[in-house]
Amino acid sequence: MEKDYKTMLDRAYSKLPEDSGPADRFSIPRADVRQVGRRSVIVNFGEIAEALRRDPEHLMKFILNETATRGTRDGGRAMLQGKFNAETIRNIVEIYTNRYVICPVCGRPDTHMVKDRRLTFLQCDACGARSSIGKA
Ligand SMILES: [Zn+2]
Repeated sequence: MEKDYKTMLDRAYSKLPEDSGPADRFSIPRADVRQVGRRSVIVNFGEIAEALRRDPEHLMKFILNETATRGTRDGGRAMLQGKFNAETIRNIVEIYTNRYVICPVCGRPDTHMVKDRRLTFLQCDACGARSSIGKA
């Protein structure tokens, strides 16, 4: 089963043009943030996590850390306590992307996170590099 999936992936990758830079292939949806009372709702949170191909829980934890607030997820939305504008959230998503998604060696987003003992690594599917991202 897993082998089939890998074959499919290999095929998908081999169809990609060789010279396409990360900018051509990778775009993160812009965070859509609305103020509801004293809370801020990231309406397209699920969409962002999906585009980044990361665990929504991991992304949520990061956002809560950066904003130093509490929050909950509800389906594809994320609710934060306090007022945060879209620009703030977009910046945080960008920091997250650079740290946990983009390969520091080749600059591509074709990565996944691997845990090895207590450390987390960013494993790149494009160039094979494995970069430490600390205790994530
Ligand atoms: Zn790479």
